[in-house]
Order: sequence, then structure tokens, then C-alpha cells
Amino acid sequence: MDKQLALLKQMTDCNAPAGFELPMTKLMQELFNEESIETVQDNTGGIFGVKKMASNHSIMLLGHLDEIGFMVTEVTEDGFIKFTNLGSWSGTVMTSQKVTILTQQGEVRGVIGSKPPHVLPQAERNKVDPDAMFIDIGTDNREETLDAGVRVGDPITPYSEFEVMANPNYLLAKAFDNRFGCAAAYEVIKAVDNHVTLYAGAVTQEETLSRGAITAANKIRPSLAIAIDVCICSKTPGMENAGQTKMGEGPVILLSDAWNIGHVSFRRYVEQVAEENGIKYQIDHLTGGYTDAGHVAVSNTGVPAITISVPTRYIHSNVSMMHREDYNGAVKLLKKVVESLDDETVERIIKQEI
Ligand SMILES: [Zn+2]
Repeated sequence: MDKQLALLKQMTDCNAPAGFELPMTKLMQELFNEESIETVQDNTGGIFGVKKMASNHSIMLLGHLDEIGFMVTEVTEDGFIKFTNLGSWSGTVMTSQKVTILTQQGEVRGVIGSKPPHVLPQAERNKVDPDAMFIDIGTDNREETLDAGVRVGDPITPYSEFEVMANPNYLLAKAFDNRFGCAAAYEVIKAVDNHVTLYAGAVTQEETLSRGAITAANKIRPSLAIAIDVCICSKTPGMENAGQTKMGEGPVILLSDAWNIGHVSFRRYVEQVAEENGIKYQIDHLTGGYTDAGHVAVSNTGVPAITISVPTRYIHSNVSMMHREDYNGAVKLLKKVVESLDDETVERIIKQEI
């Protein structure tokens, strides 16, 4: 496994759901320390590498540290675990999936229980009811589950390991949403030759209404911002009408999502940089989702903000699939955009003169 794959594996295997991001904050801190990159943190755990320049303006690249998961709410008499969601899940992808419970005594493996078709009445076979779901860690009763270390309030993450697929450009992992964004921000700041101050890192609690983007934007007060996050990949069976993006066709510049209209001048500028550098890219919009760009855009007195994305299959489930060339395209585009900016260009973008 080469260095880049090892980085993506380390990031996606890390267990840190919304509200419980500390393992990811620490991992990012270690990576920045290895490269002697100065860091800044907000009080929720959002962390950014900083490359300060003698500029009036700054740009913020933000991934998010958190992944979707669950939290223990009850241990039943029979030892089963009831839970609530951290982030948005659909019941159809939850049943029979392996999970990891992050107890204070260590990790405990569980599975979200399901009813076999043999006992399901016909009417229930194609129905899922997330409220009726439970996690089974393989114990006889409540006492044994508590003995395993499980407590109400413990976070839970999906369990699946990073894998390289048949075509080695295709990568499978939990939490590409949004550890790819953390990895991309890190790869950019490591290699960039910037002329305006750069903050590159990741925020907390995106999956629970993008809260960490607010605290990070208030701390950093950037002039421009790019959220780095996954988007829908439409070219799988049955997804033909869900957008226009295809794996392997490059990073995606989002026109809009539920909370943001990509700043028109900044978006056009980024498209121009992509074209000048021969980076292929795709354009799409998200109707039923948001990224951190929305909250940053309306922070302070307003920040031109867009989202650069990578089409990702099966997001918000135990596994997601990403194309390595799209990831590399996103890193290259972000790097070229940051390197092309100076104070005058930032001002022209803010005034919409581009
Ligand atoms: Zn997400």
C-alpha cells in the first residue's frame, strides 16, 4: 500500500462520529506536527493547518472530521442495545450491518439485528422501521452487555475496512464522507506554494446540521472558503435521474446545495483555473443535502464559498466507494486554486468582478 492509500485507510478506519471527533482531531494534529505545520483549533475540536503569508486575505479549505454513526440510548434486560442516530441514515442500509461501539473500556463489535424472511409477514418484508432496530453484541443479558463496557451515551460507528477494488482506482471504505476531505486538505497544505494565508483542515459536526462550520468560520474569519465534501454519484442502476456525475470523470464543482448557492464569481474563477491547468471536472447540484459551505458563506459579514466534491457511491451507509483519480483531481484543483490567489484576485472575487 503506497503512502496516499495508507493515509486514506488511516483516515477512513478512524472511528469518530459527529460529536465524538476527538480521535480525528488528534490524528490531524499528529499529521500536521509531522510536517511542522502550525495549527489552530476551535473549542469544538475543529482543526486547521495554517500557512501564514503577509497578505490581507485568507482562504479556508474545510473538510469535516465527523462521520455518521449512532449513540447508545438504552441497554435492554436481554442485553440488546437501543440507539439514536448521529447524522442521517436510511433504514434500508442499516439492518444486519456490523458496528463498533466505542466504550470507555475499548471497542466492542456489534451487529444491527434483523428478522429473517422466514418469520416476516409478507407485508413487512420490504419495510424497514429504524425505530424498531437494536444492536446485538452477542451477550445473554443486560449485565453481560454492561460488563463488556457498554454505557448509555457511548458513540457507535459503522464497521467496515478500507479496501482496494478490482480496478485499483476504485476504493471502498466507511467514512469517505468526509475523511477524503480531511486527507485532501492535508495533502494540499503539505505541498502548496501559497501567496495568501491558507487554513486547511476540518470541522466538527457537519453531519448534525453543520455546526462546526459555524465555530470554525468565527475563529478563522476567512476571506474565501471551499468546502471539500462528497456528492452523489448518479451512474449506478436506478440512479440515472439523481444527477450527472460519473466516477473517474474528475472532481465536481457544485452549483448549489440545500443551504448554499455557490458564489458565482468564485465558482467561475475555479472553473477557469481547472481549464487553464487541464484538470477535468464535472458540474452538479445537490437538491437533498448540504455541505459546510452554507454556514461559512453567511458567517461574519459574508464569505464567498463554494464546494468541491468527489462523486461517491453508497454514501451514508457502512461502505462508500470513491475513484482515486477523482480524489487526485480534487487535490490538484484545490492546490492550483490556492496557488493562483493573491490579494487583488481575492478582492475581485469578493466584488464579483470575475
Ligand atoms: Zn455526509
